[in-house]
Amino acid sequence: MKAYIGLGSNLGNRKENIQKAVGMLEKSPGIRVVKLSPFYETEPVGDVPQGKFINAVAEVYTALFPPGLLAVCRNIENALGRVRTVKWGPRTIDLDVLLYGEDIIQTAELTVPHPLMHEREFVLRPLSDIAPDAYHPVLKKTVQEILEGLHENH
Ligand code: ADP
Ligand code: MG
Repeated sequence: MKAYIGLGSNLGNRKENIQKAVGMLEKSPGIRVVKLSPFYETEPVGDVPQGKFINAVAEVYTALFPPGLLAVCRNIENALGRVRTVKWGPRTIDLDVLLYGEDIIQTAELTVPHPLMHEREFVLRPLSDIAPDAYHPVLKKTVQEILEGLHENH
């Protein structure tokens, strides 16, 4: 299955954190990283005062089912020393499952497509760099269409 993982970091050596996370994804059994977007420096979203992020998106081919893919993401976050403090607070590394093929998943642990991806330029921009035609099965639009729509509203 083709899937997209969003990566973000705003603590420590942010670029290195993302590169390490991608390296760990690559080494995970059942995951192959096939594309990596450019890195973008972005303003934090929300009410928590914190430093700027670096964001990127990786395209992976995976033999794992969604819960397995999420578990790998969480393990990488833990291994790179992410400490959970406040919601939407600063983090050494955040890995989110953005899209899993065109599957729609809604469980206590996992919502895919990621519930906020379509509002977030810091996700859509790097995603559209590597996968403009990736399809959002809830909005029934491509990533490029969603990104263009975002601009019209501002
Ligand atoms: P956020 O990324 O929103 O700042 P966290 O990274 O702390 O928050 O994630 C909190 C929880 O969100 C995870 O433990 C996971 O169970 C859940 N979650 C739901 N959908 C997803 C998804 N698509 N990708 C990653 N985590 C998700
Ligand atoms: Mg997350």
